[in-house]
Amino acid sequence: MDNYTTKDIVKKYGFKFSKSLGQNFLIDDTVLTDIVNGSEVNEEDIVIEIGPGVGTLTKELLRKSKKVYAIELDDDLIPILQKELKDFQNFELIHNDALKVDFNEIIGYEASVKVVANLPYYVTTPIIAKLLKENYRFKSITIMIQKEVAERFLAKCSTKEYGSITLLIQYYCNIIPIRKVSQSSFIPQPKVESMVIKMDRLSAPRVIVKNEELFFKIIRESFNFRRKTLWNALKNLKINADMLKAAFIKSGIDDRRRGETLSIEEFAVLSDCIDELLR
Ligand code: SAM
Repeated sequence: MDNYTTKDIVKKYGFKFSKSLGQNFLIDDTVLTDIVNGSEVNEEDIVIEIGPGVGTLTKELLRKSKKVYAIELDDDLIPILQKELKDFQNFELIHNDALKVDFNEIIGYEASVKVVANLPYYVTTPIIAKLLKENYRFKSITIMIQKEVAERFLAKCSTKEYGSITLLIQYYCNIIPIRKVSQSSFIPQPKVESMVIKMDRLSAPRVIVKNEELFFKIIRESFNFRRKTLWNALKNLKINADMLKAAFIKSGIDDRRRGETLSIEEFAVLSDCIDELLR
């Protein structure tokens, strides 16, 4: 790793951290190494980094990959990144909000694209939802996120962490934990612990459903009312009660169960049975 550290760069430019932009910069080299190694980025890969900060992780990714596109929102970081990374021919900076970027414009016809990021925590869920739902053709997402959020992503059925975000991730990806990261690995220190995880995008969704929109709606309703039975939670779908009853019977799923006890496969069966009766 480079001896020229995050702290040095922050000091050199008199950079002022913005809390509202989720700026907690990494200062721990072992964490950097674990993110880069965990991402399995190699010289054939195009990397998209969200929120490069002062470019500490970016530099390591530039050394390992074919090209890095880094998307940064903060005006003050743009000149710093341009100066600090000027020697890398394979670096391209995109000054924009990651939530507004069309990733397909970057991906183009590239064979292997990987996303790597120490994410700003205030936008973790919308960024992940965007990356997964918008049908982008990348291989993996390796990210540092809040530990509690990572636990929801990795949760097992019938636990309190299991929820609609778990099922969204399961639908599109295989997910593995890489490591925990303590607050002392950042400046300024965040209030919470973090975790690095890797999500490998599946070539097709884990379950094939007839109506994807309905499938996710059923999941959302089931978890909006976690303490309710499926029968009571799914009343909100405003489906005729007899039809809903018939769909439950056909699916073989007991309507007295709670949503958090259903696997993704069971949600798929239930969704298809409801969809069939609605046609
Ligand atoms: N990658 C650096 C590191 O590991 O030290 C910085 C990570 S810091 C947690 C998050 C970074 O995301 C900051 O540089 C912040 O300015 C940037 N950021 C915040 N919101 C953003 C957004 N909507 N789009 C792009 N970048 C954003």
